[in-house]
Amino acid sequence: MAVAAAAPSAEQLKEQTRAWLARELPPGWMEAVDAGDDAKYTELRGALDYADWCVRFGESGYATPTWPAEYGAGLSLTTAEAKAVNEVLTHYRVPRPSNIIGIGMGGPTLLQWGTEEQKHRLLRPMATNQEIWCQLFSEPGAGSDVAGLATRAVRDGDEWIVNGQKVWTTFAHLAKWGMLVARTNPELPKHRGLSYFILDMRSPGVTIRPLVQITGESEFNEVFMDNARVPDSMRVGEVGDGWRVSVTTLMNERVSLSGAGSVGGETIGGGTLQKLIERHRPVADALARQRLAQAYIESRLIRITNQRAAARRKSGAEPGPEGSITKLQQAEFNQRLQKLAVDLEGASGVAWEGRGLHGVDAGSSMRTEADDNFAIARGFLRAQANSIEGGTSNIMRNILGERVLGLPKEPDPSRELPWSEVPRNG
Ligand SMILES: Cc1cc2nc3c(=O)[nH]c(=O)nc-3n(C[C@H](O)[C@H](O)[C@H](O)COP(=O)(O)OP(=O)(O)OC[C@H]3O[C@@H](n4cnc5c(N)ncnc54)[C@H](O)[C@@H]3O)c2cc1C
Repeated sequence: MAVAAAAPSAEQLKEQTRAWLARELPPGWMEAVDAGDDAKYTELRGALDYADWCVRFGESGYATPTWPAEYGAGLSLTTAEAKAVNEVLTHYRVPRPSNIIGIGMGGPTLLQWGTEEQKHRLLRPMATNQEIWCQLFSEPGAGSDVAGLATRAVRDGDEWIVNGQKVWTTFAHLAKWGMLVARTNPELPKHRGLSYFILDMRSPGVTIRPLVQITGESEFNEVFMDNARVPDSMRVGEVGDGWRVSVTTLMNERVSLSGAGSVGGETIGGGTLQKLIERHRPVADALARQRLAQAYIESRLIRITNQRAAARRKSGAEPGPEGSITKLQQAEFNQRLQKLAVDLEGASGVAWEGRGLHGVDAGSSMRTEADDNFAIARGFLRAQANSIEGGTSNIMRNILGERVLGLPKEPDPSRELPWSEVPRNG
């Protein structure tokens, strides 16, 4: 789809987006949303072929509007222009691709560091949800200090042979591609001996074992690489420059996790803060009313901080340490909010009857009160990970202290030592 070359106005972009949706969404969808007809929307959403929709949505460019159109998915819009498009998509409750690690982190990394060949090969199926991505950074002995990782990649002609273990790898069981950071030179200090690769998760030598989390689900995995091979053409950035490439991924991860990207900013068990307020209105308890008001204020503050960060990116800057502000704010806010939701629910927030563990989708007409209760409990349990995933809240505070407030750097005696000489367990 071609967007007018001479900078289109926000109104024009909204109109183009509405026109595209009117052609592509099932008949009656937009009318149902505009009329607030939830039952009709739910019926149409249930009947939608999600995989087919994701292909059409991705190829149209609307799924990733800021990506250059030349790679088969994107509209070459600026961040400000994309905001107009996203407003329309959000309004019409358009299903988005589930490939959030790919689109939120892999895409921006490839756009900054990838070769033309990699961009042409990988971006389109990422945006269309046909190839899911995961992030192979954390290891059993390297999480916060990810630069200390031990997975080795050794060059063998046009290929690299990879050995090691990753952990907490979200979506590895679904993924076609993994963003892999491996040590290519152990004789250099830890940040300088790393390289960044795109690993085919289905290649020989890659074993994926799911981990069960507190909600009973298995979102993440252990990944073992035993003589797995990666072609050198799938290296991103120069040999030894993997840390710089990784920082791009990590900065974009913080933006995704702070509510500014694809992850919603104020959800409770699949609903919005507004729904929580409506669910319990009128709230008789004065303390609960105060907590709800506080949650509302905090959610607005996060939104404004995100807007400020977006304005900075609009001027061409890549995501910087300000992503750590909203990542930290969002993680701690969401934990307070989910706790409030459980508290307001009373006994049914911790015990419910009926369906199995996973309940029924938020959009389903089969949904019952018990599903809502479970969703709230699940939201509370899942939120415990918010202050760990994508860098812990302690690490966000370190980054803010050092890079925003200009405080002295935390001492790290291992920083300049060759990695092979750094003491470690095992
Ligand atoms: C739900 C979830 C999904 C995840 N998905 C992925 C994924 O897809 N891919 C991936 O690579 N990783 C993933 N992770 C891993 C995540 O990035 C790590 O768990 C995180 O970086 C922390 O590392 P760690 O668990 O090894 O804890 P550690 O680094 O061992 O930290 C333990 C504790 O020490 C504190 N600490 C450590 N260093 C410092 C310091 N310098 N200053 C102050 N405090 C410090 C930490 O804050 C923490 O409280 C995921 C984690 C979760 C919970």
